[in-house]
Amino acid sequence: MARGIRGHDYVTEPMVFGRLFLAGDAAHLVAPIAAKGMNLALHDAFLLGDALVARLTEGDGSRLAGYSPACLRRVWDYQEFSQWLSELYHGTAAGDPFRAGTTLARLRRLFTSPTAAAAFAEQYLGTAAGRADDPRWRLPHAVDGP
Ligand SMILES: Cc1cc2nc3c(=O)[nH]c(=O)nc-3n(C[C@H](O)[C@H](O)[C@H](O)COP(=O)(O)OP(=O)(O)OC[C@H]3O[C@@H](n4cnc5c(N)ncnc54)[C@H](O)[C@@H]3O)c2cc1C
Repeated sequence: MARGIRGHDYVTEPMVFGRLFLAGDAAHLVAPIAAKGMNLALHDAFLLGDALVARLTEGDGSRLAGYSPACLRRVWDYQEFSQWLSELYHGTAAGDPFRAGTTLARLRRLFTSPTAAAAFAEQYLGTAAGRADDPRWRLPHAVDGP
């Protein structure tokens, strides 16, 4: 397994090792600013629960095999959004005029562009998550089967 670590954030990838399946904060920790940690943990739990039921009742292991990549698409989406939001909230306080300038540009865009505001709302509410789950955007993660 590899760990992507940045500050207090991390992602364990893949979230599976043999018959060990990680979920929630054990697999990924996301900056609290966007309030996504519990949502991601629940998403993992629902996927893993359904996958275990399919494996144990129907002998179908395909969902367990797809568990890690299905979770990680959403995890990386929210990691990126949380970092973006942290910069939006704190960038002007960094004492760096360049960061302050780009942060104010982001804020201006949010308040002046309905398209930018709608994209922001989608990420914040989680209604854009379906696109993160779209298999066409699947990254080539190594998956350890059960
Ligand atoms: C202050 C704060 C505010 C937050 N606000 C939000 C929010 O608004 N929205 C949001 O989506 N997320 C929020 N989060 C993040 C969210 O709480 C976590 O991402 C989420 O609880 C992770 O769920 P989990 O089940 O993976 O881990 P946990 O909720 O930490 O559950 C792990 C459980 O395992 C137990 N445990 C640990 N070791 C052992 C052991 N050896 N044996 C048996 N049991 C053990 C622990 O006691 C705990 O009950 C917040 C987190 C914090 C700290």
